[in-house]
Amino acid sequence: MFTVDNLKKSLQLFKEKIDKNKDYLSELDTPIGDGDHGNNMARGMEAVSESLQSKEPQTVQDVFKLTAMALISKVGGASGPLYGTAMMEMAKAAATTSEVLPILEAGLAGIEKRGNSKPGEKTMLDEWAPAIEAIKNGTLTDGSLESAVEATKEITATKGRASYVGERSIGHIDPGAMSSLYFFQSLMEAGV
Ligand code: ADP
Ligand code: MG
Ligand code: MG
Repeated sequence: MFTVDNLKKSLQLFKEKIDKNKDYLSELDTPIGDGDHGNNMARGMEAVSESLQSKEPQTVQDVFKLTAMALISKVGGASGPLYGTAMMEMAKAAATTSEVLPILEAGLAGIEKRGNSKPGEKTMLDEWAPAIEAIKNGTLTDGSLESAVEATKEITATKGRASYVGERSIGHIDPGAMSSLYFFQSLMEAGV
């Protein structure tokens, strides 16, 4: 179940993991993108942290909404509107439930709609979809999250910048799948 406290804790942990792995995320984005994913996410999560501290949201819906607005307004890259839309759809879902599964599923659907994408195209969806499936089956672990990220190596990118390099994207991890691993790890660690 999402609560204001465990959601704020999750976002704090997510920010810390992004900061710690900023260079790594940008390195992953170098061979198949433009090398800025770590910087994009770090800038976005810094803005999220500032917004949550200054506005002190009192509901799960408002925490998700402020997070969405900060990401959409502060991140120039594709990941900003995509994560931002996920957070906005999760805010909407949180109006009627605090259960984890329907809220995350709304986030996933938001990314698919905004990105005109589906799992299997070497994007963050290749972490979101298996993570949500694992939550459904009660099999979510660090190991399952890591296997899903690792599996993005085998996929030829057909969406986003990585699609420009086509088959040369094979062998490389998708940076957005990796940042999404940190998101799901943060949820687990915060006890969501
Ligand atoms: P940009 O590509 O604009 O520089 P980032 O580097 O911050 O933005 O983010 C790239 C990540 O965004 C990719 O690794 C991928 O996971 C994700 N992504 C890009 N396009 C899409 C899409 N259409 N649907 C889902 N995810 C996408
Ligand atoms: Mg990039
Ligand atoms: Mg970019």
